[in-house]
Amino acid sequence: MAKLVVLGGGYAGMMAASHLEQLGDEFTLVNANDYHYLTTLLHEAAGGRSGPSNYSIPISDILTKRTSHLVVDKVTHIDREKKKVTLEGGELDYDYLVVAIGWVPEYFGIPGLAEHSLGIRDLDTAAGIRSHIEAQFAEYKKSEDLRHLRIVVGGAGLTGIELMGELMEFLPKLCSQLDIDFSLVDVQCIEAMPSILPQVPESLRGVAANTLTSKGAKLRIGTKILKVEAGVVHLDGADPVEAGTIIWTGGVRANPLLSELGFTCDRRGRAKVNPFLQSVDDERVFVGGDSAWCDDEAGRPLPPTAQVASQMGALIGHNLHVLARGMATEMKPFHASLKGTLASLGRDTGVGDMGGIPVRGMVASIAKEATKVKYLWELGGLRLTADKTKQVVQM
Ligand code: NAD
Repeated sequence: MAKLVVLGGGYAGMMAASHLEQLGDEFTLVNANDYHYLTTLLHEAAGGRSGPSNYSIPISDILTKRTSHLVVDKVTHIDREKKKVTLEGGELDYDYLVVAIGWVPEYFGIPGLAEHSLGIRDLDTAAGIRSHIEAQFAEYKKSEDLRHLRIVVGGAGLTGIELMGELMEFLPKLCSQLDIDFSLVDVQCIEAMPSILPQVPESLRGVAANTLTSKGAKLRIGTKILKVEAGVVHLDGADPVEAGTIIWTGGVRANPLLSELGFTCDRRGRAKVNPFLQSVDDERVFVGGDSAWCDDEAGRPLPPTAQVASQMGALIGHNLHVLARGMATEMKPFHASLKGTLASLGRDTGVGDMGGIPVRGMVASIAKEATKVKYLWELGGLRLTADKTKQVVQM
């Protein structure tokens, strides 16, 4: 029997694994944690909307068959000649491999940024943002130094704006708990480009901006971050900002392991794939999610989104299943089905588009919740969907 190994339990890897399990294949999944988490909802975790269990799923709740093996470890090397994966704690041989090892922050070489900013990468870093802000506000109570109440979010893409939406709901509550005058809190989102949220219809960008500014946020567009020092953000053409909390949401790139291992990569470090999502460098290796450089029908690279990643994972599951059985002609090409983009602006409101139709307010929020339910359904069917949605209702 061919040895199948899936690296990474994010949207692509987990969906590939779930499909392999449904197809009856034996495989090993390697993941840094024994749980899968919902990256698209990490901003909620940062704002403390609900506990971590609402954003994570034990992998043993998704992969329940004895043919699925989980190894909790980190990948350090892939030897494609010997078909061997090296992990921090051991080695694994493979005949076919799925590489879905995710992303890292893109710092664009901005001096001091990596060292002096927080990021929102996983459940731990999301919770770390919340506890950092709580500690800063507690510090303000002692020192009355207003810098502790200043928060800079660098980048007004989807991650930055969704985080802003969450912060503008979380911070008034924190202030009332700590007896701090909320009007003293200064939350600035700094964006280099002339507009926020390029991914949503232009007509809705103003709606998003008004929603945030009406809650007290500042949006500074056309302002580029040039350098960061401990507690200071240096800007192009504007005064430096001193802030107790600096969060970077200015972009992502693929896990650097891919380029280090000699895969053909794009400028964001993603490994080029053929239409069947196999690496162009090695047909035994499928690449999915934020690790994959895959062009759409018009020749433009697909964005690194959860939607694309989970669709890729599902197809990789099928293609790997047939390839490992010697039925390569049964493989299917990947066609992304882009259903729209939704940006949350807090618990009950958002903006975006569904199949090209602009949506806003509560409708956008409900649509975003519906995408979560659809994903859970595709990943683990009725059992998983009922289990996770029950937790939300019980909150
Ligand atoms: P992004 O690249 O989409 O946005 C980063 C923003 O930071 C850009 O607007 C950029 O102009 C700005 N920026 C970069 N350098 C800067 C500088 N020096 N100073 C000031 N601003 C600067 O990154 P993201 O928001 O992390 O999103 C990454 C990917 O994940 C995207 O493909 C996005 O669509 C996806 N995503 C989707 C959702 C969703 O569907 N709800 C949520 C989060 C992320």
